[in-house]
Amino acid sequence: MKFIQTRGHDENDNTKKEKSSFLEAILDPSASFGGLFAPEDIPKIPDDFIQKHINSSYQELALDIISLFDLGVEEDILKNAIKTYDRFDDKDEATPLKHIDDNLFCLELYHGPTRAFKDMALQPFGELLSAIALKQNQKYLIVVATSGDTGPATIEAFANKENIKIICLYPKGGTSDVQRLQMVSTNAKNVKVLGINGSFDDAQDLVKKNLKDKDFKDLLAKENIKLTAANSVNFARILFQIIYNFYAYIKLIRNNDIRNGYAIDITIPSGNFGNALGTYYAKNMGLHIDRINITSNSNNVLTSLINEGKYDLRSRNIISTNSPAMDILKSSNIERVLYHLYGGSRTKELLENLEKNNYFELNADELKTLQKTFKGYYSDDDYCKKQIKHYFDKGYLLDPHTATCLKAYDTNHNKANIIYSTAEWSKFSTTIINAIEDNKDIDNDLEAIDKLEKEHSLKLNEKIYDVINKEISQNDIVDIDEVSKYIFDFIKK
Ligand SMILES: *Cc1c(COP(=O)(O)O)cnc(C)c1O
Repeated sequence: MKFIQTRGHDENDNTKKEKSSFLEAILDPSASFGGLFAPEDIPKIPDDFIQKHINSSYQELALDIISLFDLGVEEDILKNAIKTYDRFDDKDEATPLKHIDDNLFCLELYHGPTRAFKDMALQPFGELLSAIALKQNQKYLIVVATSGDTGPATIEAFANKENIKIICLYPKGGTSDVQRLQMVSTNAKNVKVLGINGSFDDAQDLVKKNLKDKDFKDLLAKENIKLTAANSVNFARILFQIIYNFYAYIKLIRNNDIRNGYAIDITIPSGNFGNALGTYYAKNMGLHIDRINITSNSNNVLTSLINEGKYDLRSRNIISTNSPAMDILKSSNIERVLYHLYGGSRTKELLENLEKNNYFELNADELKTLQKTFKGYYSDDDYCKKQIKHYFDKGYLLDPHTATCLKAYDTNHNKANIIYSTAEWSKFSTTIINAIEDNKDIDNDLEAIDKLEKEHSLKLNEKIYDVINKEISQNDIVDIDEVSKYIFDFIKK
């Protein structure tokens, strides 16, 4: 399988080959003209694929799906990557599926070590990248800016891995308490965590600025370190986010909720569109999905794109919500969908418009094509809190991101719909307690967790318990203009 650049390949740029291998695409994930890599062809599952896997474990299914992509990676390395799912709560079931209402099912994607869906891809990706780095005898550096879930999951995936160094920037005061503790409690020598006096956008800008800086590049060259990325611009992340779509469908058949061939709806709380992109690939590989519902919070730029064909940032500023992992206006993986639907040169045109004018608009035909697959919904914090309370009273606990999915089910509940649950309650306990008790009194996670345990009989996951009680190893809080110095010192060590 070859990988193509989403903004085309042109004589004038030529920074990359016209087609790249999987390894090239994941080790150096930025493509020409600022684009990404996408698979040249989307492989199809054989007709008997679902039937054949009706009793497979998650891991067996994963290996078979990945092998359809023909990645040119040794089977041993892939098998070891997939074996990381053995560390999830239930080794035989990485992603439990719960029946929570008439036609409503919830696929829980948070049973990995950091209690958010990021583990679904970062756990195997950590194993995959370290194996490659060792085999190549090459050192790699990953610099991440995080608003909360990516940081802990990246650290967990790469802590103490040879040949890999991680620098993680988080905005001081911009994450939940638990998310911060997950990062600052790490004592792995290959990980540097820096809190910055600034916002998530500042952290992201710093990462981008550093990556272009000449002194930084010179230092990496001198130390013989290559730079790669672990966010969802890296196709390896997306690859591992295809598997659970198939698993969920097979579970519905196994439980006699649907017959094989029935087309279901899938509903995904979206930010950077990495989770939803995995579903898009699954549908195009032949999985029976009718509609992919994309849900947002008040930062509803994806809703406007899908329902009106307009990506318009001109009058938007980020709104802070109770679902911070979706407080995103520039949704990077939309680019891959545009590429698959409209081709490289149109994608380049649309995204250059966005970069220059903060705006692009699809034509009527393009919009129609997009709407064959996707439908957009959004809801605000009040709606989500009401849904959290409603379902808690019925015996099921949703996190604030997952709660946005209920908007799609409310609107159309005539068909089996699987919503994707992206985080455990423990990461957003302050919102949860205030939703359940219908107040605004509690303002920190530790108090919220205590109350949820004592008064609502919830049980805190052991990993989160450990994090809360662990000594803090990473104390640095730095000003924006000092960050480079800390990064340079860490690289030289
Ligand atoms: C990352 C994240 C999302 C958004 O996923 P995307 O792949 O960026 O669309 C939603 N919910 C939670 C809890 C997350 O951590």
